[in-house]
Amino acid sequence: MFSSVNPATGEAFATHRPHDDPEVEGRLALAAETYRRWRTSNLDERTALLGAIADRFAADKQRLAEMAVREMGKTLTSAIAEVEKCAAAFRYYAEAGPALLADAEVTTASGRAVASWHALGPVLAIMPWNFPYWQVVRFVAPAIMAGNTGLLKHASLTQGCAALLEEVVLEAGAPRGLFQNLAIEARRVAPLLADDRIVAATLTGSEGAGAQIAEAAGRALKKVVLELGGSDPFVVMRSADIAEAAAVAVTARTQNAGQSCICAKRMIVHADVYDDFMARFSAGMRDLAIGDPMAADTAMGPLSSTAQRDEVLQQAADAVAEGATAVLAPEKIDRPGAWMTAGILTDLPPDGRFAREEIFGPVASVWKVADLDEAITRANDVPFGLGSSVWTTDPAEQASFARDLECGMVAVNAMLASTPEAPFGGVKRSGHGRELGPWGLHEFMNLKAVMLP
Ligand code: NDP
Repeated sequence: MFSSVNPATGEAFATHRPHDDPEVEGRLALAAETYRRWRTSNLDERTALLGAIADRFAADKQRLAEMAVREMGKTLTSAIAEVEKCAAAFRYYAEAGPALLADAEVTTASGRAVASWHALGPVLAIMPWNFPYWQVVRFVAPAIMAGNTGLLKHASLTQGCAALLEEVVLEAGAPRGLFQNLAIEARRVAPLLADDRIVAATLTGSEGAGAQIAEAAGRALKKVVLELGGSDPFVVMRSADIAEAAAVAVTARTQNAGQSCICAKRMIVHADVYDDFMARFSAGMRDLAIGDPMAADTAMGPLSSTAQRDEVLQQAADAVAEGATAVLAPEKIDRPGAWMTAGILTDLPPDGRFAREEIFGPVASVWKVADLDEAITRANDVPFGLGSSVWTTDPAEQASFARDLECGMVAVNAMLASTPEAPFGGVKRSGHGRELGPWGLHEFMNLKAVMLP
């Protein structure tokens, strides 16, 4: 049985019965059957459905957002913003989709070839709890436009959100079987990849889960898109507006209680502005408004679970034991639920666990560097390569970061955020493949060459 526990109170408020094997079989069969019709559906039908789903998300935003707050502790303000962003992504694919599926023609030695986009089949998505709607919509909106069908294995923590997603898509008029929730435990996922009816998988989550899904998909020779962890650098150079950079750094580290793959996790700061940045950043982290996630003036609620909170505190404690300095020690807040304060560590051993692992909670590391080269070397010195944020008004420095940072995304003088139009994904142990934009639509499509005389 899945249990929904409110991390703000520690109270279990709902249970969800897992689907048994016959139910999973029924859903797989329906996904395959619906695909046979949906793959050749008219593009107007697809765009109309995407628009209708966007409308339902907008109309239901309070109900959806409140479920996310209760299941994983994000603030209501951020949950509403997440639902609105989902509606925007459905609208983006409704509007941009048809042109992105247009044929391309090339001349060949013997005539011409038309490259045309075709649907692939039922795709399995394994998604995490941290953005319980947005992570799923990044997959399902392009899947609908592509002519595919989708099956969702959502995180155990957010089964209420998973059920609501299926409900909202059906209420918007989607054919049965176009998008279905599989309420199953993690151990029941890999065997599904051997099933001929599932053609590909996409996973957002930890490295461990990514490796297991990639292995199962590899055995069945199926494509996977992996959006795994990150340890994003936030680089502040001499020319930056330090007050603004420090204020944004606080938000970039503590948004979603630090539980975002593209949270800024390592602040890399030029020596000349280090003291100024540290004074402002420390004050911002110390004074963070921690409290009831339903309240409008709360910046950070609880973490998603006590296990997640305890893991982050343990990572920080281990780092201090390894020689790090706690400029601001993260502390457990002694009340029911998954509460902790924000923290800042310095003097970290670069090859220690804290420096090399993803820290999925509100604890930042800060590194002092002498120049651009050291900033880039330090930024790249992790196994991950997801996003980054660089603060400099020098065009040459901006160009160096854009070229030399080993990552999938660089934000210049801004906090990194995903957007429906731009590619999203990483390199190194952050995974492979891209979501969103034309690239996310094409990931799970068959680009067919039709050779003509
Ligand atoms: P997981 O990677 O375990 O969970 C993400 C999703 O994968 C969930 O639906 C989970 O299901 C499923 N899953 C886990 N293991 C398997 C498996 N072997 N086969 C198939 N599906 C699997 O993340 P956690 O929630 O345990 O968080 C652990 C760490 O992962 C975090 O501290 C963070 O570092 C990273 N993470 C990164 C995210 C990101 O956005 N990049 C999001 C979430 C976590 P179930 O919930 O049932 O286990």
